[in-house]
Formats: sequence, structure tokens, C-alpha cells
Amino acid sequence: MARVHNFSAGPAALPERVLQEAAAELMDYQGCGMSVLEMSHRSAAYREIIDDAEATLRRIVGIPDSYRVLFLQGGATLQFAAVPMNLMRTGRAGYVVSGVFSGKAQREAERYGRAEVLATSEAEGFTRIPDLAPVEERAQADDLDYIHICQNNTIYGTMYHELPRCLDVPLVADVSSCFLSMPLDIERYGLVYAGAQKNAGPAGVTIVIVREDLMGAGAALPCCPTYLDYRTQADAGSMLNTPNTFGIYLCGKVFRWVEDEGGLVAMEARNREKAALLYGLLDRSTVFHAVAEPASRSIANVTFRCSTPELDAEFVEGARARGIEGVRGHRAVGGMRASIYNAVSLDDVRALAAFMEEFESRHR
Ligand code: PMP
Repeated sequence: MARVHNFSAGPAALPERVLQEAAAELMDYQGCGMSVLEMSHRSAAYREIIDDAEATLRRIVGIPDSYRVLFLQGGATLQFAAVPMNLMRTGRAGYVVSGVFSGKAQREAERYGRAEVLATSEAEGFTRIPDLAPVEERAQADDLDYIHICQNNTIYGTMYHELPRCLDVPLVADVSSCFLSMPLDIERYGLVYAGAQKNAGPAGVTIVIVREDLMGAGAALPCCPTYLDYRTQADAGSMLNTPNTFGIYLCGKVFRWVEDEGGLVAMEARNREKAALLYGLLDRSTVFHAVAEPASRSIANVTFRCSTPELDAEFVEGARARGIEGVRGHRAVGGMRASIYNAVSLDDVRALAAFMEEFESRHR
């Protein structure tokens, strides 16, 4: 069995232990005589699976009781609508636009109220996180229902190294591509959400962590579908309807793996080591260059390019021939992108770095 070096941006590499455990349990989950795929979400066995997934996530992130954890469906994209439908009480929120997804979130929010763009780096081609001074200044007026950021920009390879200080305005973050990459100080946020398909599990599960006081009874806008009402989902334990049972089961296994590997502090150290290897090489290179500005570089998605699209294509092709998959950049920007999520090992990154050096020596 040959597994490739998988640098896909999501769905992405999963820990092999998780895949092996799931495979071993596929016909008969722990003596139940059936697969988790075939099991009622109301069964005692499934209750234990979802409760354990939540408890493990609470331990690894350090989520206090004042926050609720929801396992929903619809991806981060549906949260672009759910956030304003639940939190835009006075009809006014602030958005920082640092890339494609935060732009989509801002435009979606405009359907439900005023979604002010507080800062954007669009003029710089989203190669950095915008200056946050105007955001912090705007927060002082204290008339926004929340301020929304996308903490790691998957397409551009940028991330926040400091969060904006939002004072009493709840900070809402799309953490899809940095969730579990490093410690998360949850009390700095009112709400975070993430599509699971990068670091947390398979596609089809969306994790929302929301502060209890932001979900008062009847707080959601009248147009909010019952399914998307955070209060209703929290009261139903994410079981208002049939959840993504198998996806949540896999997420629970990934959380256990993160915990056994040393938790989020260990994940961050490993991710920084992997990122440093690639950025170091890029900064020394005469053939490749990094796309993101140094102060905004992501430790989850490393974006880079050669001097021409033809060379980029040759690199992607050559990588594939060596079992290095998923390094083609997002279709919106081209170039290359190596997503180095938790399940991508240092050895995977060394294999990529070795090919980059070989490519460099041929094209210098
Ligand atoms: N936000 C970010 C940061 C993402 O990377 C993505 C997907 N790549 C999305 C939102 C959209 O997520 P989904 O496909 O889960 O709706």
C-alpha cells in the first residue's frame, strides 16, 4: 500500500491511526454487531461517541462550561449566514476582509443587516493581514453586534499572529484552516466556527463553539431556520435532527489522536517546525518565492510561486510524479500551496522540501 504525501487544503490528510481504527471498527463497532454508519443517532452507543468527542475537544482546547460546542452540517459557508442570523441583534456588524472567505462571509451578512468592512487588504492582493488599528478604533464605539475575522486565510496562506482587541464587542472567527493547529484562547472570542475537513476530521461536520450568553432564547432573527438557531441546537445537544454521525465519530478519533500526541502545544511546535523548513527554503531560493508577507505567514498553508505559470505547472507535475499531491495553488490565485495540517508529518514536508531543492538546482 503506497500512501502519497498529501498537501491538500481540505479535505486533507487524516492521521493514519484514525483511518486504521475506523477501518477495524467498520463491520462491528465494539461488539455492537453493526457499523457506526448503521447505528441510530439516538442509541446509547452513539450517545457515548458524541459525548466523548465533545469531552475530548473540551479537554484539548480548554473550553470552559460557559461555552457550548455544536456539531453541525453545511460547512463554514452555512455559518456565514448563521452567524448574522443569530447575532445581528441590532442589525450592525463589522467584518475584516482578508481574503476570499471573509469576503464571502461579509457579503452573506449583508443579506441580514449592515456588514461594515472595517479593514481589508484587497489592494495588496491579500498577501497580508490588514492593519487592525481601524478595527480596534471602531470597536470603541461599542455599537456593533460582533466583529468577524477569518483567522487563517487558506487560499492566500496568511494568518493573524495577533487578534484585534475588540473590547466589549464579541469577536467571531472563522478558524476553519487553523482549528487545532495551535492553542486557541477561546475566552477571547464570542464564537468560533470551523469546517472539520482540514485539521479536525472529514468534510460534512462543522464545529461551532459559542459563548452561552450570545444565544439567549428567541435571540435569533425571525428569518433564522430552526436548524441554524444556536440556542435550539445547543438545547438539543446537536441532535435536533440526524447529525453527521460517522463524521462526528471520526472527529472524536482525531481529537483523541491530538491529545495523545501532546495536545495543541505539541501541534503548534510541529507545525512551526514544518512551516520554518518551507519558508526558510523559499527565502533562500532564486527559483521560488513565498507569496505571503513574512509578518502574516500561515503555519497551516504555505503559498509560493515560481517566476512563470509554466514553471509552476512543471513543479506541480513533477511533484505528483514523486508521490507529492495537492500542491497546486487555489484556482483563484494559481501558483503552489502546501497545506501542512496536523496529520502532515515532518517527513512529508521533508519530501516536499527535497523535491523543491532538486527542482531549484535544475532551474537555477
Ligand atoms: N473558510 C475557510 C477559511 C476555508 O478554508 C473554507 C474552505 N476551504 C471555507 C471557509 C468554506 O468552507 P466549507 O467548504 O466548509 O463551507
